[in-house]
Amino acid sequence: MAKVSVGLRGWRFDEEEIFTEEGELKPLDEIPEDPRERLVRLTRLVEEPCDVCYLDFGEAEIHRCNQARIVYGEPRGEVLLCPAHEPSFIYWFHEDGGSEYKGTRTLADRFHAWVAAGNEAPEGYGSVEHVDEDPDALPDPPDEREIQERLAEETGFERERIDIRKLAGQDEPDEDERLTEEDLADLDLSTEYPSDR
Ligand SMILES: [Zn+2]
Repeated sequence: MAKVSVGLRGWRFDEEEIFTEEGELKPLDEIPEDPRERLVRLTRLVEEPCDVCYLDFGEAEIHRCNQARIVYGEPRGEVLLCPAHEPSFIYWFHEDGGSEYKGTRTLADRFHAWVAAGNEAPEGYGSVEHVDEDPDALPDPPDEREIQERLAEETGFERERIDIRKLAGQDEPDEDERLTEEDLADLDLSTEYPSDR
C-alpha cells in the first residue's frame, strides 16, 4: 500500500484509505477514524510556525519563525518543525530519552521543555544518518490547498490561519528554495517517527 504525506512531511497515510482510485480525497465519513483525525488536524497545522522557532522568538516576533514543514507525534500532541530544527527533535528522540514518549501526547510537552532548557542537536547531527532509500519512488503529494478547503467545508472549521509570510512582508518562497536536494536527502519518509538506526 502506498504511503503519502499530506501538507506536512512526517505523518504518513495509506493512500487508499484517504483517496479514491481517481486520486480524489474521499468524503470524511468514508475515511477510517485515525487518518481522519490526522487529516482534520493537519488543516490546523499546515500554516503554523515551527515549535523551536516559536520557542526562540515567541508570539511578539512570530514573523521571524519559519513555517513548519514537518510534523511528528500524535494528534493534539504534535511537534511541528522547520527543516533547520528537525535535527534537534531527531537527536532528542534517539539520543536523549525522547523515544520514551513515542505514541503519547506528552511527547510534545517533553520536547518543548527540553528545547526551553537550552538543548539542541550537536553541530552536524542528522545531516547524513537519516537518508531516505528512494524519495523518487513516492507518489506526488496531493494538492494541499484543495484538501484543506475540502476538509474545512466538511468539518465547518473556521480556519485560524497565521500567514507568517505575509506578516514578514515576503512573497511565497520560490519552489527551488523550499525543497532542495539536501532536504530530500534528509527526509525520512517511511514513518511518522524518526526511524531506528
Ligand atoms: Zn524552526
